[in-house]
Amino acid sequence: MTIGSTSTPEGWAEGMCADEFRETSARVADWIADYRSRVADFPVTPDVKPGEIAALLPSTAPEQPESMDAILADLEDTILPGLTHWSHPGFMAYFASSASAPGILAEFVAAALNVNAMLWRTSPAATELELRVVDWICNFVGLPDTFSGVILDTASTSTFTALTAARHKAVPAVRERGLAGRAELGPLTVYISEHAHSSQDRAVIAAGIGLDHLRHVPADKDHAVRPDELARLIQADREAGCIPVMVSGTIGTTSSTAVDPCQELAAICEQEDIWFHVDAAYAGPAASLPELRQEFLGWERADSIVLNPHKWMFTPMDCSILVYRNPAAIRAAMALTPEYLASDFEAPDLMDYGLALGRRFRALKLWFIFRHFGAEGLRRRFRYHIGLAQELVSWLETDPRFELVGRARFATVCLTAVPPAGEDPYEWNRRLMAAVNGHREVLLSHTVLDGRYVIRVSIGNESVRKETVRRAYELLCDEHDQMCAKGIEA
Ligand code: PLP
Repeated sequence: MTIGSTSTPEGWAEGMCADEFRETSARVADWIADYRSRVADFPVTPDVKPGEIAALLPSTAPEQPESMDAILADLEDTILPGLTHWSHPGFMAYFASSASAPGILAEFVAAALNVNAMLWRTSPAATELELRVVDWICNFVGLPDTFSGVILDTASTSTFTALTAARHKAVPAVRERGLAGRAELGPLTVYISEHAHSSQDRAVIAAGIGLDHLRHVPADKDHAVRPDELARLIQADREAGCIPVMVSGTIGTTSSTAVDPCQELAAICEQEDIWFHVDAAYAGPAASLPELRQEFLGWERADSIVLNPHKWMFTPMDCSILVYRNPAAIRAAMALTPEYLASDFEAPDLMDYGLALGRRFRALKLWFIFRHFGAEGLRRRFRYHIGLAQELVSWLETDPRFELVGRARFATVCLTAVPPAGEDPYEWNRRLMAAVNGHREVLLSHTVLDGRYVIRVSIGNESVRKETVRRAYELLCDEHDQMCAKGIEA
């Protein structure tokens, strides 16, 4: 017996039949292949003003069905001109996020399968593949096999989730009694570097801890957090009756890719019995390179670690790995099974490892990517990017117009231009980056470190090549020289 009929209920417009789907998806695949080969020909950023794209879109959804031809034409004519092309080789802003071919194909398949691995039984293969590829990643980056975990959407969600586990460990009965109105509890405190990513501040807001109780621990001249300052702050907080909940160290900070001393942070956390989280959202995949392992010393002592394949591992958004040394800790904090989700199987239900019940089949893209590139192919690409970053460093080092800021230990280079005497370096660099980005050939982003406006060149895109990095350098040089000739114009 077969269940289901392909006939359309009366009154409905015809849906997409199998033949039409086959034909249209082949056209979409062609479109994607073309997009990938012409992406470098687009300006990396669009020339649009806020609201311009919205003005081209109808204010309500169409009442009647429209053809795929019309939809694809609008994709090309209306949407594409309003995009920043993250897969453009010249995209060197923030941290790269590039969609490799196997990742794109896996997303296509995942959408078609549309499984929801909330419980083991709602898709056994999706659950088991997810746990297996997370094990692959742990092994790839050299973490002990005691670590295991799940795939979430972003590092922001991962850090928040880790914080709920930390809070559960630190605060008795927090699941049942919450935090409010408990006179016996002092304020909960969380410790991060002054250079930590703002996702940690958000996690503190969302977990009900409050920004007033988030300690931004001072960093040293290399922008790495100071363990002595951390110990001092914890001590002072304990004396004031606070409950330290979590210390978070970063390997590869957003501004300068600085590395916090995780050995020392781990030792403090062990001594004080505080949850130790490591944010390696950007740099994590680079731990697969034996020559960079020293940057990661101590992370194996963390209670939880986040790393993002959707940054430097050619995985389309979204894909963030959150692993625990003891995954029972997050189950203790979050697991909850209403009757309608109860199951008789002795198997892990991934809904118990975070806030979300429903979950996308993200494991598929990591599986495709690992198998398509191979671990060695991934390492080769990381090394290529690091090599390009070192070339850029060598050009800047010998160029008196620029100063390097921090050490480019991964594939992100931070620099400032040296303005002529009398010019404000902050304003000079701000204008310089705007002028470079104004060409729309490359996209750089900035940060502020020690009060200085710093330009970041982040190399990590799958399609980036030496010519693009050289072009970014030339644009910096040319614009700097022109500004010197003209001075900063209002
Ligand atoms: N942590 C670090 C070090 C980051 O650089 C970023 C983003 O760039 C994040 C966390 C947040 O990442 P996500 O966008 O996945 O939440």
